[in-house]
Amino acid sequence: MSKKVVLAVVDGLGPELLNRAIAAGRAPTIAALAEAGSRTDACVSTFPSLTPVCLSAIVTGEHPVGSRIPGMTWYHRDEGRFVEYGSSFAATLAEGTRQMLDDILVNLNLLHMSPRATTVFEALEDAGLVTAAVNLYVCRGRVRHQITRPAARRFARRVGIVDAVYGPRRYFLGDLFFSDLTGAPRNFGIGIDRHGGAVARWLVTRDGFDFLFLYLYETDAAGHRGGDVLGAVERADAGLALMVEAAGGLDRFLDRYGVVVLADHSQSPIERIADASEPLSDLRRFRSSRRSDPDRCDVAVAASNRAAMAYLLPGARTGAAEVADRLATLAAADIVAHRDGDWLAVRRGDGRLRFRRGSGTADERGNAWDVEGDPGLLDPAVYPNAFERLEGALLCATAGDVIVSAAPGWEFADAGGIHHLGGGSHGSLRVEDSLVPLVVAGFPAGEAFPSQPSITDVQPFVCRHFGVAPRVSRPHALAGSVG
Ligand SMILES: [Zn+2]
Repeated sequence: MSKKVVLAVVDGLGPELLNRAIAAGRAPTIAALAEAGSRTDACVSTFPSLTPVCLSAIVTGEHPVGSRIPGMTWYHRDEGRFVEYGSSFAATLAEGTRQMLDDILVNLNLLHMSPRATTVFEALEDAGLVTAAVNLYVCRGRVRHQITRPAARRFARRVGIVDAVYGPRRYFLGDLFFSDLTGAPRNFGIGIDRHGGAVARWLVTRDGFDFLFLYLYETDAAGHRGGDVLGAVERADAGLALMVEAAGGLDRFLDRYGVVVLADHSQSPIERIADASEPLSDLRRFRSSRRSDPDRCDVAVAASNRAAMAYLLPGARTGAAEVADRLATLAAADIVAHRDGDWLAVRRGDGRLRFRRGSGTADERGNAWDVEGDPGLLDPAVYPNAFERLEGALLCATAGDVIVSAAPGWEFADAGGIHHLGGGSHGSLRVEDSLVPLVVAGFPAGEAFPSQPSITDVQPFVCRHFGVAPRVSRPHALAGSVG
């Protein structure tokens, strides 16, 4: 019987922030886990490095090409509207519109996420294991959960918003969904992560799962607003400490559980804000399904944080190369990329290259590429795992035709004009948004991540641990298969 597994994702916890927190004595549990096991800071996020994309990558083992979740916000070609998952989890819970709640709680998992992707919850529950998730909204599973409190459920039905989700066997999301009464304090007022840690403690006390995904959200939120990030890391660490104590200390905890702690992405400081659609202002731009007819528009721009995507619409009187030329004029643009026949075209400043999966020398992750043009354009020290991640975004059926990764210090305002000037942000292909710490402890010696890990390796790692065949798409089989 395989050891049980706890996976904790601390949103937005970059390696440098973790170092500061450990040095200040405010992340003693993560430090002790790294001491008992291993830590690498070379783990690479997906692209765009935005939370819904990253959580989908962690849960399914797929870049956007496989998960079909391409951004925080994206243009839905079939429905002729923007999908908006909310600029933050808290904002969604606090002031979510009906469409946003439907998009984030139901549509993301059941409609937007590819039916060909397999979540870690689906894979393990199909093998007869019990999975659990705390405060995670990318959570597609086999078990239907109604909004737990009858009064809230009645309200949801009356106003016509989602009243149930399909998730893991044991599912907890704030005060909306709780498959078990845990005695954890209410989440509002005391903080979402403290609430999550208390639920996780309850689950450990009862040994109530084979696989637990604890999502800790507050560090990213604090970083965005330029707030007390060390305090937020301390609260995330305290949530982990509650589980360790419930098991009777670190040794006993690691006797019972294999533990993986990582972040979905990092963050970098924001000094300047750009409007990604500004170079396209003379084109007919799609604004919203209420104000625009896609057949009479050239382009839709979905931008948030440090990534922007431009979608060519059915009536477009322009092409991807021209839109890329225009977007490349933005001071905020660093990498601009688009599909070019069988190739993927990339430009940065005056430099250009194109690449595709091929027969060239294999990279550190075993991918082989054919490359033409300026080979220095995507220095791996600045753009880690760039080819795999750009391919994973550009071949995604729901991504834009042109994708822009922001220059250092720049952020794109979202559709509501929201940005994080003076705080932190993420989303780009660059190292400062993309590298995350990966702490692994309590697993048998033979079980390890690849030497150049990606957050897409978590689902296969957990599946293999339980002897369940990972069901992750082979990238070369996907190339060219989506239009
Ligand atoms: Zn964020």
